[in-house]
Amino acid sequence: MKYSGVITTGISGRVSDIPALLHRKSIREYGIHPRETAPGEARNFNVVVSPLGAGEAKLEASRCLQCDEICNVCVSVCPNLANFSYSVDPVCYSLQKAVVDENGAVSIVNDIEFRVDQSFQVMNIRDLCNECGNCTTFCPSSGKPFQEKPGLCLSVKSLNEEQTGFLLNRQSGREVLIYKEKENIRTLTLTGGNYIYETSQVRAVLRPDDFTIMEMKLLAPCVREARFTFAAWMSIVMKGAIQLKLTH
Ligand code: SF4
Ligand code: SF4
Repeated sequence: MKYSGVITTGISGRVSDIPALLHRKSIREYGIHPRETAPGEARNFNVVVSPLGAGEAKLEASRCLQCDEICNVCVSVCPNLANFSYSVDPVCYSLQKAVVDENGAVSIVNDIEFRVDQSFQVMNIRDLCNECGNCTTFCPSSGKPFQEKPGLCLSVKSLNEEQTGFLLNRQSGREVLIYKEKENIRTLTLTGGNYIYETSQVRAVLRPDDFTIMEMKLLAPCVREARFTFAAWMSIVMKGAIQLKLTH
């Protein structure tokens, strides 16, 4: 994956030169060994391990890999290259939802705020992952990347074999992200500058820059509420799948 330029990440607000940071992560820099009193000379109350000098302390601090800016440990430790890192612009959408009253009247009302603060995201490519668990062992946040990150399938066959997964279908002028969870299917289609979100219960046209509902139709009489948090999350996954350029 290619990162270009200087990017601000949402978590810390710091501005980092991401290409330089990734380069630094690829080189092993050993730490400074502090001076220690020889075992035979330590029979007193003097300091045994000397503190670092100012210059040494700065050098030691410069080895920090700034995992809060970009971690990607699960990407680098995977022996099958099954974890993929991608970047998105942070987003904040004031989502809307549709509610149906007892008379069957539909209203569009404000729902929750949907935020993605971190620029760097990770997805798991299901076709390449053999679930060895290595990424879980190394994740510094005690995560289970291969289970918790969105799982992208590279073909209909592999999607059919998975209980849960995503597949990006790219046609002329439209990108369709399919999400399968057991037998349920949801799709998010980017076409004509808008998203179309479709489930068994709702079809809605959503504006990509703020996720405002432009058109909406409830597809089953029993539906009392339709929310679009999952559609917003799918839009983030779609950006990653498009960057991966592996489509069906
Ligand atoms: S569990 Fe999957 S993603 Fe994680 S290290 Fe193993 S193969 Fe890679
Ligand atoms: S899932 Fe864990 S290892 Fe992977 S980027 Fe996030 S914190 Fe790092």
